[in-house]
Amino acid sequence: MTADSSTVRRLERALASLRGLSLGDALGSQFFVPANYPLLKSRELPPAPWQWTDDTEMACSVLAVLAEHGRIDQDALARSFADHHDFDRGYGPAVNRMLRLIREGGDWRELAAALFNGQGSWGNGAAMRIAPLGAWYADDPEQATHQAEISAYVTHQHREAVVGAMAVAAAAALAADPAGPPTPTGLLDGVIALVPRSAVGAGLRRARDMLDYDDAGTVAAVLGCGRRTSAHDTVPFALWSAARSLGDFEQGFWVTAQVGGDVDTTCAIFGGVVAAGKTGAPPVAWLEQTEELPGWTPAQAI
Ligand SMILES: [Mg+2]
Repeated sequence: MTADSSTVRRLERALASLRGLSLGDALGSQFFVPANYPLLKSRELPPAPWQWTDDTEMACSVLAVLAEHGRIDQDALARSFADHHDFDRGYGPAVNRMLRLIREGGDWRELAAALFNGQGSWGNGAAMRIAPLGAWYADDPEQATHQAEISAYVTHQHREAVVGAMAVAAAAALAADPAGPPTPTGLLDGVIALVPRSAVGAGLRRARDMLDYDDAGTVAAVLGCGRRTSAHDTVPFALWSAARSLGDFEQGFWVTAQVGGDVDTTCAIFGGVVAAGKTGAPPVAWLEQTEELPGWTPAQAI
């Protein structure tokens, strides 16, 4: 089977989003390197290369499954997460353990459902990896939201984590509209319409009401910026920032990063959504300083 032109375009959009995600993740994570922190606070770039973390590694698996299956196959996604799991990429302890057990033959359905006393994880890990999927489905935002929901369950079964992934995928799909990106309000209204009622949804409504605030610190204090690493403490702020910067990756990155919190993840979400759009390409010089994507990242769909 050869890829038709629509599949080629889907993969190109998803790869553009993935590079933005990876850059946001890699440069964002430099805030946690003590020697680099003062540089970054004054908007100076740290020494290269900037290494990406778990956000990028998992996003590559999402894209690999889409390229091979044309949709999310949960068993294939679990297998890819487990096979490519690099313990040194900053995964949380629960995911580290779960991916090791899957590699040893465990069933992801049982393992993901059992996390956190049977509530499932409400962490931001399903949202941090999903923007490229949204870019893939730019011609069908409802399908983006649906496939994101399916993808989340493989590791994150709490409702808030699932809705967080749906929201980020919806945002990337809308940002990647071939007709051009929406307005800030248009983006958040579109996302709100595509996700079910939830704490994430409530946060997105507050984010929409704060789009004209120029003080990101105040917005982050209200919405959260990932300090608790939950989906509802991460996604509304990251999408607030993305909505305001669909045409300016560089400025938006600094705004997102400088409030602190779970910086690699807020910046991975920001970067993946903004870079999905025609006007959101990251600075080339920044991409050149970012660690290359892993060799198994799909360069073309079958
Ligand atoms: Mg990370």
